[in-house]
Amino acid sequence: MKQDIAIIGGGIIGVASAVELARRGAQVTVLERDRIGHGCSYGNAGWLTPSQAVPLANPAMLLKSFKWMLDPDSPLYIQPRPDPAFVRWLIEFLLASKKAKFERGAAALVELCRVSVDMWEEVAKRSPEPFGFERHGLLAVYENAASLEGAKRGVDLVCQSGVRAERWTTDEVRTKEPAIIGPQVGGYFYPDDAHCEPYLAVKALESEARALGVHFIEGAEVYRISDAAGSRRLTTTRGEITAAQIVVATGPWSEGLGKMLGFRLPVIGAKGYSIVLPPANPQPKRSIYLIERKIAVNPHRDALRIAGTLELVRNDSSINARRVDVIVRGAKGMLNIGETPASSEVWRGLRPCTPDGMPMIGRARGRGDVWLATGHQMAGLKTAPGTGLLLAQLMTGETPRFDPEPFRADRY
Ligand SMILES: Cc1cc2nc3c(=O)[nH]c(=O)nc-3n(C[C@H](O)[C@H](O)[C@H](O)COP(=O)(O)OP(=O)(O)OC[C@H]3O[C@@H](n4cnc5c(N)ncnc54)[C@H](O)[C@@H]3O)c2cc1C
Repeated sequence: MKQDIAIIGGGIIGVASAVELARRGAQVTVLERDRIGHGCSYGNAGWLTPSQAVPLANPAMLLKSFKWMLDPDSPLYIQPRPDPAFVRWLIEFLLASKKAKFERGAAALVELCRVSVDMWEEVAKRSPEPFGFERHGLLAVYENAASLEGAKRGVDLVCQSGVRAERWTTDEVRTKEPAIIGPQVGGYFYPDDAHCEPYLAVKALESEARALGVHFIEGAEVYRISDAAGSRRLTTTRGEITAAQIVVATGPWSEGLGKMLGFRLPVIGAKGYSIVLPPANPQPKRSIYLIERKIAVNPHRDALRIAGTLELVRNDSSINARRVDVIVRGAKGMLNIGETPASSEVWRGLRPCTPDGMPMIGRARGRGDVWLATGHQMAGLKTAPGTGLLLAQLMTGETPRFDPEPFRADRY
């Protein structure tokens, strides 16, 4: 089969890119080794929150991160391993954690996310398949007065990029969000944030892509990429395809694709878990962020999803029962979810992380026909439509809607 563009990876980023490319008339095939949307895009927290769209390489978190590294129950954990590529990534991560770099990255990510949430809202309006999109805002709840005070700088930073925030007192939190039953000293409410059910969101965009003529091949793992007379030949577990241009959208597995293509692609996995429980009593009215516990809460129509922990593990996707328990215990301290809540789903995913915490969107270094859309860390769902838009505009020579510089794919 000969195609204009082959996208490797059918997560939210590959699917959103396919939509925007097909809209511009390209013939697009998405190659997915598993099933569409069954990678990291499947069970994430479902937040569409510009207020929380900042790079992972955050200087304000660095000191805390080092303390947490030694505590297996902490929200952030780095699995020690004598692996030179991993050590190099960590050094680059430390070097990227500089205030000015972080602030530039945050401004770009917040903008990408704000536009993306508006695009998600449009998808929700036209989609025949509801995906739980609701724009009821996000409440960040604090248990410690010093961390609430300390948060002001970060709040001001995202507000400079157009995010609206309200500071709520303890009483306001109690009356406006009665689902919070644990001790708290107040919070910040971000009225324009939204949430959805992540896998249903992928399926809604996949339907749009199919309607635009995108061809999906599931169960097709790309394991060799070679030249084929002016185009690329992709050898998969389900046959070969040639394409004039290829897009690498393989999320946390991108490092391996880089190897196949002969360049370094420093994207490693940061594991997190989500747990689906029966609704809390009372059920939250909106997304909630339990700041000190680093737990994300997302109310679905008939369930509650809680998510958390960030373990830099590269590509180890084993389940650590202890860390799952930490999340449930942490949520139990702040929400009425019952003494022994029965989960209907426990999921783990690998967030695709670059050392500077910024996605890579654009042409790969020195390779005219290879494009990257990967490295979206904790923000792939919330920035997917904008990522697809930026990538498609760059690939078709349109004036990009966003400054492409902070997302350059050839920076490593
Ligand atoms: C606990 C947790 C909570 C999160 N919460 C949020 C949130 O609230 N909001 C948000 O925006 N983000 C959140 N994220 C991050 C978000 O899930 C990711 O940024 C996003 O899913 C990345 O999408 P992707 O398409 O790049 O990767 P993936 O969804 O992982 O897709 C990559 C795909 O590539 C395929 N693939 C890999 N190798 C090959 C190959 N050789 N051939 C063919 N196919 C291949 C894989 O099978 C996979 O389907 C969270 C993540 C976690 C772990």
